[in-house]
Amino acid sequence: MIKSHTTDNVTSLVIKPRIIPRSDHNISRSNISENALKVLYRLKNAGYKSYLVGGSVRDLLLELKPKDFDIVTDARPEQIRELFRNCRLIGRRFRLAHVRFGREIIEVSTFRAPHHTAKGEGHTEDGRIVRDNVYGDIDDDVWRRDFTVNALFYNIEDFSLVDYVGGLSDIKARQLRLIGDPEERYREDPVRMLRAIRLAVKLGFTLHPATEQPITKLDYMLRDIPSARLFEEFMKLFMGGCALATYIQLRRYGLFVYLFPETSQALDEEIDGFTHKLVSNAFNNTDARVKEGKPVTPGFLIAALLWAPMIRLAESYKSNGLAEMDAIHLASDAVISRQVKNISMPRRFTHMARDIWSLQSRLKHRQGNRPNRLLSHPRLRAAYDFLMLRADSGDNVRESANWWTEFLVKNGSRDTESFASDRNTPRHTRRRRRDAR
Ligand code: ATP
Ligand code: MG
Repeated sequence: MIKSHTTDNVTSLVIKPRIIPRSDHNISRSNISENALKVLYRLKNAGYKSYLVGGSVRDLLLELKPKDFDIVTDARPEQIRELFRNCRLIGRRFRLAHVRFGREIIEVSTFRAPHHTAKGEGHTEDGRIVRDNVYGDIDDDVWRRDFTVNALFYNIEDFSLVDYVGGLSDIKARQLRLIGDPEERYREDPVRMLRAIRLAVKLGFTLHPATEQPITKLDYMLRDIPSARLFEEFMKLFMGGCALATYIQLRRYGLFVYLFPETSQALDEEIDGFTHKLVSNAFNNTDARVKEGKPVTPGFLIAALLWAPMIRLAESYKSNGLAEMDAIHLASDAVISRQVKNISMPRRFTHMARDIWSLQSRLKHRQGNRPNRLLSHPRLRAAYDFLMLRADSGDNVRESANWWTEFLVKNGSRDTESFASDRNTPRHTRRRRRDAR
């Protein structure tokens, strides 16, 4: 049944949802985080509507373990805060609540309405959303979500699922489909193109043809995304355990160039395939570590991703008469400062890449006491791993890599895990996510 109603002087369609009772779906409370349940129940008991929504509902239906649990409610941010002691209101563009339970943060947002016209208030000339702060109800909130499979609501009132957009049948068909007019939805927020690739890879879904088709035409819009938002997306794309497959698809759809333009150029121009191998191997190692539950840091990936442009520039400085170390330092500075204009990377990660690069040159010197002096260098392990990565990718450093393997084993430091032990990464990711809203 379709009826018409008016919000903010703009006519929109209200579609009656399909309600799937508890007996007809497989989401069990035993798979929902206890903390998320606490929040859902407390909102309900205070007389508010409360639903689990987004990636968690999707993942539960697919019998995957959700990364995080997001909740929507008709309670306003201030009302949410009154209910929870452990609650902070955050967000610039849109205020939402973070309810903290130790390490777990449950994100609670108030239903909000989408923007109804492509060039109305809150959009730029090209249709991008710049303001996003109109409260609504569940039947408004559903239309602002990106894909149908991300727009399913789990109702804590009766444990039913609420499906306005055919999300359930798309889950069954294993396809990602944008809600509404795909071109308009990408124009509102071009990051949805990256999300489409990332989620399709992560879930093993195909892109619905109409969702896939505008990407080649609108890819250029990714140029204007704030660099902090792209860093947040970079972390999700490459630190989530599917980096290699995601990288391959981003190249295939022509989106990788908007993330790493100089790397992309090096990949397009190379004939020996070395950079592709280096980058692929780095992603593959990262994926393996994520799967084993080992810590990972983007610093190492940044070193691999920017190695080709850095070394190319350093070579040109050297041929102009600069000493090797100076050439590497200058080239590192130049390449990193150009890259952070696209993706703002925190300094501790770019410093790690710099250290790894300059140590590649120092690892060449094996005479006398020099290797012993390097033993106490905090980045030696990362630099050694990078040397191995180069050797495995076809760079002419196998002999040197083998020598260092033997040397480190002899000195008892071969097994220490230092490069990936950046324990702040998860906390950091959360902080960025907050900041970008
Ligand atoms: P993941 O499993 O990676 O967390 P997710 O779909 O949960 O994937 P989140 O970034 O956690 O992604 O977002 C939660 C929900 O918010 C999404 O499922 C979707 O409903 C909505 N959402 C997120 N980003 C956008 C966007 N750019 N445009 C529209 N809706 C979005
Ligand atoms: Mg999520």
